[in-house]
Amino acid sequence: MLDKVLIANRGEIALRIMRACKELGIKTVAVHSQADRDLMHVRLADEAVCIGPAQSAQSYLNIPSLIAAAEVTDSVAIHPGYGFLAENAGFAEQVEQSGFTFIGPRADTIRLMGDKVSAIEAMKKAGVPTVPGSDGPLPENDNDTLHKIAKRIGYPVIIKAAAGGGGRGMRVVHTEAHLVNAVQVTKSEAKAAFGDDTVYMEKFLENPRHVEIQVLADGQGNAIHLYDRDCSLQRRHQKVVEEAPAPHLDPESRAKVLKSCVDACIEIGYRGAGTFEFLYEDGGFYFIEMNTRVQVEHPVTEMVTGVDIVKEQLRIASGEKLSIKQEDVVLRGHSFECRINAEDPKTFMPSPGKVNGFHAPGGNGIRVDSHLYAGYTVPPHYDSLIAKLITYGEDREVAMQRMRNALDEMVIDGIRTNIPLHHEIMRDTHFEVGGVNIHYLEKKLGL
Ligand code: ADP
Repeated sequence: MLDKVLIANRGEIALRIMRACKELGIKTVAVHSQADRDLMHVRLADEAVCIGPAQSAQSYLNIPSLIAAAEVTDSVAIHPGYGFLAENAGFAEQVEQSGFTFIGPRADTIRLMGDKVSAIEAMKKAGVPTVPGSDGPLPENDNDTLHKIAKRIGYPVIIKAAAGGGGRGMRVVHTEAHLVNAVQVTKSEAKAAFGDDTVYMEKFLENPRHVEIQVLADGQGNAIHLYDRDCSLQRRHQKVVEEAPAPHLDPESRAKVLKSCVDACIEIGYRGAGTFEFLYEDGGFYFIEMNTRVQVEHPVTEMVTGVDIVKEQLRIASGEKLSIKQEDVVLRGHSFECRINAEDPKTFMPSPGKVNGFHAPGGNGIRVDSHLYAGYTVPPHYDSLIAKLITYGEDREVAMQRMRNALDEMVIDGIRTNIPLHHEIMRDTHFEVGGVNIHYLEKKLGL
């Protein structure tokens, strides 16, 4: 097992990773910016190193600082968490070249999946179902071919940046007249935002759900899936509520897609935890991208499978083979996660500040992943996620009722949060039935 792990992240996920390390007897090093000295995991880790000022670019994204912190603390491995440098192939490479273990896939896998054109191509080859599309980058200065591709796919189409991320670098085109201009605009936006103007085209699915599949692979020829999650409740491409398993899926296409994800992991020699993201419409799955890291919503999968995903990441990184076989993974019950953000429930504007009081709900089937405590000040510099409220129940209804109760119990005093929104969602009649699409929440909110 790894001797000492540096956690290159902050907030709830840093705490989550630290807890997993402690369970495995791994020593932990917290790194933090000057604005983050009071983070919960900084107090609890074996060692802590300040890596720079509040601005992420100079601290959590500062590769030389992170590597120096690993060196001075004699860490043997670095866990990137999610966000920040988690999917930065250059970081993974530098970590390994400096003699540390990167807790995640190989740099070339991150690079392959970071470029959506190459990711889709690789997945298609491995038998994963993809969205009908241009099968590669769109040509330069060849409007005839552009029109032909769009016609073959059928309007509406979506133009997407190969290097895109975070819901940016996409444009929907409904009619032929707008095609050429839309491609040009998306290209120049992509160049400005990602330094790469490669764009491709896909069929625009009008009312899909977001269904994703969790995998674990050891890079030594073994891979398993941990079933699916539904993350369709989104606002501006940001997930708000997630659940596992995804309700009301077509059993046959589900079984097929689960198998195809495992096959793809073996085919590309995948190592670590990963997520295949799909759009799901009319019983069909359409791959859109792969995330090569642990995800915010991983707890709902842990609740229904009993597998500790972060511990598995650590075991895989220490060179162990997967200890769990596919037939050992038994799906049991249902789980929801509400992302609690420090934001105004009406305007969605961030609401940082001092937390005067904090009371976390408890009881059977309740899990709270949060770095909050009474007296903690939420800094304005980072993501507004302050807590994940997760419930488990023997079925969907029980898990949902537990979420309603838990939301009633939860108290976060001093700052505004989106808890009122979650109350509403958990009492929404369509959401109660399950299987709403990715536009549902914004429509409900009148956006
Ligand atoms: P990002 O990396 O920016 O998250 P994705 O490729 O995952 O980009 O797409 C983000 C979101 O954009 C999806 O969750 C979905 O809401 C929408 N989207 C992307 N591709 C399509 C498509 N072909 N049809 C309909 N919606 C799409």
